Amino acid sequence: MSEENNVKMEDAAELDAGRRDFLKFVCTSSAAALVVAPEAAEAVVKAADSADADTTVAEFFQGHFVLMSDEEKKQAIARLEKRYTAKFGKETTVSDVAAPDDVLFGYALDMSKCIGCRRCVHACVEENNQSREGTVIQWIQVMKIPKGNISFSADELEKGYPEKSQFGDYGVQVGGNAYHPAGMTTEGAQSYYQDETVPDKDFFYMPVQCQQCEKPPCVKACPVRATFRDHAGVVLIDYNWCIGCRMCQLACPYQARRFNWGEPQLPAEEMNPKTHYFGNRPRMKGVMEKCTFCVQRTREGRNPACLEACPVGARKFGNLLDPESDVRKVLETKRVFRFKEEFGTYPKFFYYIG
Ligand code: SF4
Ligand code: SF4
Repeated sequence: MSEENNVKMEDAAELDAGRRDFLKFVCTSSAAALVVAPEAAEAVVKAADSADADTTVAEFFQGHFVLMSDEEKKQAIARLEKRYTAKFGKETTVSDVAAPDDVLFGYALDMSKCIGCRRCVHACVEENNQSREGTVIQWIQVMKIPKGNISFSADELEKGYPEKSQFGDYGVQVGGNAYHPAGMTTEGAQSYYQDETVPDKDFFYMPVQCQQCEKPPCVKACPVRATFRDHAGVVLIDYNWCIGCRMCQLACPYQARRFNWGEPQLPAEEMNPKTHYFGNRPRMKGVMEKCTFCVQRTREGRNPACLEACPVGARKFGNLLDPESDVRKVLETKRVFRFKEEFGTYPKFFYYIG
């Protein structure tokens, strides 16, 4: 079992102190109590009454997963597997397999191919155990944008992959030279279109999900570091450490984060029992979630579910550090752009015109 990184271990003491200070603040501040304490108190009270009270209370008080010892991780995972298996009536596994070394995950989407069918959205919901009713959660949102809003010519887009930058061989500039405005606006975009047939010839389609920013403002905004970037460049959340303050959601320029306002509704027969601690394990009321590039798949060398579901091959995924990967080939040969590049977030999600 290896350690989850990028919350550096030398930061451990600071993180621990930060959480304690924050919890002290929660206990003493009525304003903070309004957003956090009711759920927390309710969870503990409910847990005390339930059959698996020991499990749930232990889970409530567990530390940040990244900073746990191997033995603590083992116990935390065993608790979760027991609870999910009982709740959903199927043998559930919770992996904590670490991100591979020497990998920086990236994604590229061909906007000239996307037909707006939303198969990626539904595959993502199924794979990642998203709430189906009540608070309906979908990590991918497909925008339908009038063709007039797209003004870029091939010359305004860029291609190529920098061998080096002032930050080293890779870093915030990784993934091509797509730093200039693409000449596209999302004005008039519809996110909730209900067309019987797609594509509509007067529109193009732009699926948006977490852009796995190299400089993620959501990570900076989280007061307890429940959300962090792993060493493969994927921004993750420890759901058990999340306090539900929603600061990360406010900070994200891509509206990529989803909050569980209610208890997630996930029918047992539809639950995917092969889960990862930082990925698709069932979430709870009061916590944040978002796309993880299907961490439960991609850390094991598989493609994300959205890519496999796309009927037109609009999606490419891979290791940005490997010149032979599909995603690098796109960056080398196609004209690409980053969404909202003006925010300086350096997404590792690229759009291109094939
Ligand atoms: S897209 Fe939003 S949630 Fe994803 S890493 Fe960037 S700021 Fe964070
Ligand atoms: S599945 Fe492919 S074509 Fe359909 S909306 Fe998603 S990216 Fe576009």
